[in-house]
Amino acid sequence: MAKLYFRYGTVGSAKTLNLLAVAHSYSQQEKRVIVMKPALDDRFGYGVVKSRAGLQRDADILLEPATVLNQAEFKEVSCVLVDEAQFLSRQVVDQLRALAIDIDVPVICYGLRSDFRTELFEGAQRLFELADEITEIKTTCFFCNRRALFNLKLLNGKPTTDGPSIELGAEEKYLPACAGCYTSKLEETRLLQAL
Ligand SMILES: [Zn+2]
Repeated sequence: MAKLYFRYGTVGSAKTLNLLAVAHSYSQQEKRVIVMKPALDDRFGYGVVKSRAGLQRDADILLEPATVLNQAEFKEVSCVLVDEAQFLSRQVVDQLRALAIDIDVPVICYGLRSDFRTELFEGAQRLFELADEITEIKTTCFFCNRRALFNLKLLNGKPTTDGPSIELGAEEKYLPACAGCYTSKLEETRLLQAL
């Protein structure tokens, strides 16, 4: 039985770069990989898995919340890679779990742990529940040198906890922050608003 992996990190922790590097090394050995991502993530263009470092490749399968995977399509595959896995539905994560068991193909999911309000994403929660191996891809806080834990949302340059949990687009910016900086930056905004 192959394993289901969850590799999580904050924004800017090079998760997609890590995914593309794994895909590349399988391809070098002429092994087939399938790259999947949620359909709703259109930040870099529909169906493209792209790292901030500039590397990219097309997604083979786009996952909707109600997608039903055909296990037969994965029989000749050496590895399944999933980007932005925090946006997956529970039922899709359940199917990834089944894929590793039934088809004996390793499934490696990359994604955020929590949203900008520090709450678990649905897909991340299910992966924490079901994954064989969970590893953190570490990165440093934008404001200090501690390890980043949360994703701080900036709206027009100001830290905020307002807006929907799933919001993709260029107007908002997200920064990796340690717990201390995350809290103090939001407090600064609240103090400024109170003036
Ligand atoms: Zn910090």
